[in-house]
Amino acid sequence: MFDKVEAFYRPGNIREALRLLQSGKGRARVVAGGTDVAVEADRSIRFLIDITLAGLNYIHRKGNSCAIGATTTMAEMEGSPVIRGLAGGILAQAASTCGSVQIRNMATLGGNLAHGSPAADMATPLLALDAEVVLANRRGRHTAPLDALYSGLRKTLLDQALLVEVVIPIPPRGARWSFQKLGRTAVDISLVNVAAGLQLDSKDRIKWARIALGAVAPTPIRAVNAEKLLLGRTLDEALLEEVCDEVARAVTPITDVRASAEYRRTMSRVLVKRALEACVPQTGCTL
Ligand SMILES: Cc1cc2nc3c(=O)[nH]c(=O)nc-3n(C[C@H](O)[C@H](O)[C@H](O)COP(=O)(O)OP(=O)(O)OC[C@H]3O[C@@H](n4cnc5c(N)ncnc54)[C@H](O)[C@@H]3O)c2cc1C
Repeated sequence: MFDKVEAFYRPGNIREALRLLQSGKGRARVVAGGTDVAVEADRSIRFLIDITLAGLNYIHRKGNSCAIGATTTMAEMEGSPVIRGLAGGILAQAASTCGSVQIRNMATLGGNLAHGSPAADMATPLLALDAEVVLANRRGRHTAPLDALYSGLRKTLLDQALLVEVVIPIPPRGARWSFQKLGRTAVDISLVNVAAGLQLDSKDRIKWARIALGAVAPTPIRAVNAEKLLLGRTLDEALLEEVCDEVARAVTPITDVRASAEYRRTMSRVLVKRALEACVPQTGCTL
């Protein structure tokens, strides 16, 4: 599958990886776990740059944020006490749904985001968590909101750049979270996925809300208008219907081999409803 590849490099740091990437003149490809690169088997690739020894495998809690290095694997996030303790464990949960055990032992966070798939299971909870990405190129590093990484279907702004790290601000105190995924089988990619977070005040009114969806638009999206509908109100059946109607308007799914656009739209409603219900404490709720 890589019969045209002339060289395989394993740089020990980011600077060397970037130098190799630039010297490849568009024919070099970064590889981390290789679970997407191997499937694509792009025959234009001449140089593979394996970044798994470049020092990007870590999970740090620092100050008011949590930083995850780009080559941290799904299995490592799934098992990390820091990630399991963050935002109700939705990131660990999302990581645990990414393919089989074998895939999760190889697949990395950076690869999941850099591949640019709208169905990437880590992108949805990270959007809901207001995550930022740290990118590096030959001129230096810069930080951008995760949604700015995506420029269209399977398109990212990672031209001759590396995704180095994902930074997650510690979410509002007391917020409750849910991640919902629908796939054809337990190890398949998402037909639809949803991440939601709600923070309630002492009277059970919603004071902060996040809803993100994957596999229902060219890029993972935040349902910002649906979030606004929730603010200052108490979650009941009428509000849920209103929010789900807004979500159904916001999504632009396609029909493909896995599901029809209409099914995806319907399941967006169902998963958002489940996620929001799961974010409301059992005692004192109106549902
Ligand atoms: C059988 C199977 C099941 C799968 N199931 C799921 C699933 O359930 N959910 C899901 O979300 N995904 C799934 N995937 C897709 C894949 O496993 C994930 O997207 C994975 O996280 C990709 O990471 P990787 O390290 O293997 O990426 P790679 O294949 O190494 O790279 C993917 C792309 O990202 C680029 N890249 C990688 N790292 C960086 C970086 N740090 N900076 C810049 N560019 C980079 C590469 O050049 C390449 O273009 C599945 C794949 C397979 C084969």
